[in-house]
Formats: sequence, structure tokens, C-alpha cells
Amino acid sequence: MRKRCLFPLVLLAGLTAFSQPAGEPIPLVSEISLAGQLPGTVGKYWLQAGSDMFGRPIVVPVLLAKGSLPGPVLGLTAAIHGNELNGIPLIQELFASLDPTQLHGSVVAIPGMNPLGMQNDTRLFLDGEDLNRVFPGKSDGNNSQQMAYALGSKFLPGLDYHLDLHTASFGRINTLYARADLESEPLARMARSLGADIILHSKGEATAGARSDGTLRAMAASMGVHSLTLEMGNPQVYDRDMIARGLQGVRNLLITLGLLEGTPVTLGEALECERSYWVYTDAGGLLEVLPGLGQVLHKGDLIGVLKDPFGKVLARYSAPEDGVVIGLSTNPAAISGSRILHLGILRKAGRP
Ligand SMILES: [Zn+2]
Repeated sequence: MRKRCLFPLVLLAGLTAFSQPAGEPIPLVSEISLAGQLPGTVGKYWLQAGSDMFGRPIVVPVLLAKGSLPGPVLGLTAAIHGNELNGIPLIQELFASLDPTQLHGSVVAIPGMNPLGMQNDTRLFLDGEDLNRVFPGKSDGNNSQQMAYALGSKFLPGLDYHLDLHTASFGRINTLYARADLESEPLARMARSLGADIILHSKGEATAGARSDGTLRAMAASMGVHSLTLEMGNPQVYDRDMIARGLQGVRNLLITLGLLEGTPVTLGEALECERSYWVYTDAGGLLEVLPGLGQVLHKGDLIGVLKDPFGKVLARYSAPEDGVVIGLSTNPAAISGSRILHLGILRKAGRP
């Protein structure tokens, strides 16, 4: 059952606007309200998601494009891991190009889900927890649980579709790849519209009766929101190529979902993987990873060489089976059990 945001725009008493350095006042709100905004407009808000040690609001930025025409509601989120930044300019540039008077439905975006992690240049929330492993969170839980609860409960209700933008973690790099439940027709269609290099089949864990993996995507799926993840390159940078490719993919997604009129741009067809896993070192040393991103490997292909500090080879690693390189380690300093590469196993012929 789809839930709609019908509550009025709630402005917090006495804190109706934060002053931006540039001077543009942005309303501070305690809820995201589609109903409270005029059709054919773009709104900017600070959404309160907690309080800091001075009792001041912890806020996240919200962009809301409310179309003049009826249609679905798409949510976009970026930087729930605070050092994964490529999704932020993607959202900014998408909104700069959106004409809400031509939009069927609405797009609501949070370009900065983990502001405290972003300030600390870290993937994690302030308490050292991974925010994207504690959804749906708890209203009376610890720091990260309350943040997750606030974000999930304020952002997800009212959405029909959701795309969560990520990058690799520190010391790794990813292809442009989507994670989605390809057994779901809407999600398969969404994933295939994005022009990704690779689509990895992965269930919205909370829907399969399995234990939730604590991601925002799993919480969205449990609420009936069609949610998928797009990984875009490496952390703590703006990667212009990834941003441009991701933006084109998201424009295609808007057309595919009927939010924008037009024909999707033809982008390369993704390799589709039925599962994936990381291959790790079994010893410590200095690691060189040999294949490139997106490279197709055959079982036995050399994928990494581990040396001691004097240059002696300690180990050579090979692909355990045929597959494609989804992501790989860029950090040569490797203790035993370090990641070499993320191997995707291609789907057998025939799609679900
Ligand atoms: Zn991430």
C-alpha cells in the first residue's frame, strides 16, 4: 500500500530559516511535505534529522521538484556514506536542468544524507557506525539508530521509486554499477535504464523474508518502494566522468519512469551478474592488482601479486572462476585478508 505525504509543511518554531553564507534563506523543516509545495516549483529545505551538542538542529539538504503534471515520486539520495560524494553534483546538476512545469510527478533528493560523516571525511556516522547498516533505526536508539530512523521515516513515505547513490570505499574503486533485484520487473527496468557497466542482481533483503541488511534500500523495499543502488567510482573526489555518466543514466531513469517526456538516450548495455564476491589475500604484503575495472576474466587469470618490502614475490593470485571485475583494491598496503577484487559472476543466458 502506497503511503502519501499529506501532512502540511512543518516549520520549526523560531527557526524558520538558516542563513546561507551567500544569503539565500532556506526554510528549516521537520518533515518533507509534497502537499505543502506548489506544483511546478522547486523547493529547497533544511530537514532536521536530530540535534547537536548545542541543541541546534542536525540538518540534511532537501531538493524537491514538484511537477505540474501528475505522476510518480522518485527519491534520490547521496553520501549516506560520508566520503562517497559523486552523487552530490549529480543531484545538483539534475535539478539545475529540471523544469518542474514539464515534470510528471515529483523528484525529492537529499544530496548529503550523512552530514557528520561528510564533515569528518569518513564513510561512518559520528559514533563510528555505518549508517547504511542500521536502517530502519530506532526512535529511542543510539546516535546512528536515531539518525537512520529520522532519515528513513521522513524521506521514504510517499516515494514510489528510490535510487541511492554510492561510490567505493577508501582504497577501492568501482565501475559504474547498479545493485537491484532483477526478479522485480520495475527494478530490472530501472537498472537497465541507467547505462551502467554492470548490473548486479541483489535482493532487497527485507523483502525476501530474510533478515534485513540494514540498508536504506532494504527499508525502502520493506515499505513497497522500488529501490536500487548505483555505485559511481571512488570516494572523496568528484569524478567528472562518473558524474556525467550517472547523470545521463538518471535522466534516462526519469524518462523510463514517465517523469520526463522523451526517448531515453541509448547507452551501453550492462553486463548482468547473478552474484558476486570479494577475493582476498591470504597473507600480508604489498599488493598489486592487475586487471582493469570491468575486465572480463577467465578462471586462472592472474589477478594480483603480493610482494615483501624487498621486492620478493610472496604470492600470486588468480581468478577462482570466470567473471567480471566489478571493483578492485587501489591500496597496495595489504595485511592478510585484504581485498583484491570484487568478482561478478555473469548471469546465464536468458533474463528473468
Ligand atoms: Zn556506500
